[in-house]
Amino acid sequence: MTRRVSIFGATGSVGQNTIDLIARNPSDYDVVALTGASNIEQLASDAIRLKAQVAVTADETRLGDLRAALAGSDVEAAAGQGALTEAACRPADWVMSAIVGAAGLQPGICALEQGATLALANKESLVCAGALMLETARRHEAHLLPVDSEHSAVFQALTGEDMAAVERIIITASGGAFRDWPLERLPEATLAQASSHPNWDMGKRITIDSASMFNKALELIETREFFDFAPDQIEVLVHPESLIHALVGFNDGALMAHVGPPDMRHAIGYALHWPERRALPVERLDLAAIGALTFRPPDEIRWPALRLAREVMARRGLAGAVFNAAKETALDAFIAAHLRFTQMAEVVDEVLTTLDSGIIDAHMTLDNVMVADHMARQAARAIIEQKTG
Ligand code: NDP
Repeated sequence: MTRRVSIFGATGSVGQNTIDLIARNPSDYDVVALTGASNIEQLASDAIRLKAQVAVTADETRLGDLRAALAGSDVEAAAGQGALTEAACRPADWVMSAIVGAAGLQPGICALEQGATLALANKESLVCAGALMLETARRHEAHLLPVDSEHSAVFQALTGEDMAAVERIIITASGGAFRDWPLERLPEATLAQASSHPNWDMGKRITIDSASMFNKALELIETREFFDFAPDQIEVLVHPESLIHALVGFNDGALMAHVGPPDMRHAIGYALHWPERRALPVERLDLAAIGALTFRPPDEIRWPALRLAREVMARRGLAGAVFNAAKETALDAFIAAHLRFTQMAEVVDEVLTTLDSGIIDAHMTLDNVMVADHMARQAARAIIEQKTG
């Protein structure tokens, strides 16, 4: 039997890895929707190749380009936020959520409302609205599966285990581009330097977030929301080789580690075939050749994002939405060369400290998440303006 699949963020790094797996066995899948934003050529060629029902660009101004690129095929073209939501409402059995940023939240919720299995790469959805996502999945009997490599690793290590026997979760971090830089050089870090990851080949934004550890900060919050362990049960461990993705510690002293190559097709494939395990085209590790794995404690002076994540985990409510929106705004400013690398954390810290607590502590509804996101972006922009004078 074929499965109906949709891929949100199909033109990105996770989206292309997902397409790589699906295109190996095209007769197993009916592709419902593929979405992208600026990369119209890639979106159209994949939609034609995979015989998708509809291709959607988030950018309304590119509808004409998409129509032209799809001319002569049976694929429908659509554009804009409304079209993304409409595509997420089309019945599908399995949906990949791989849009980058808070823009991934609404399509993810719509897919869960249809009862689809949602493979979640878009960590921002859980950071902004974890309780809402989980509640929506419960109400519609939909499965939510992690695709972040660390969370997929935790999920796999927890399978079949008694949750009451779990003492701690350890997620690993490569340390990103600047793990060995002297602290005093960090303010001078350039966009090109921050955009180069030592181990993983990923989208530009997540690569910069890895250098600042904002990515790991988001993952700490994601772990809290997804698995519901207390903040002091969740740890970060710097592991420069990126081969152990996470460890689960049990009350008998055992540590179950998930070891695998730094290739997103493992976590994507696990979510695609879950609850089965199927062969995947990823490297088989030769541990004897690798020889040694190394570990270091996380340094909250080098990576203040980790300290900020702990504040968010303790506060909960809409603090995650505020944290993420301030981070996205600060990241935009760093990419546009309006902020120094180290100023991104300063901006997020100031937004969390100064934003009206009524916004952060409001009841979690999609509308309130959107308000918190909007207000945090506005506050972050004002702080950035002050800093850049
Ligand atoms: P990319 O930047 O490579 O891709 C992002 C995708 O989202 C592209 O399809 C892009 O379209 C689309 N997009 C961008 N802006 C919007 C918008 N406003 N509305 C709708 N779609 C938009 O990101 P990654 O694939 O690296 O990451 C995707 C998500 O997965 C992120 O949440 C990231 O944190 C997470 N993740 C990524 C990993 C990785 O290895 N890359 C690992 C684990 C998690 P276009 O390119 O056409 O402009």
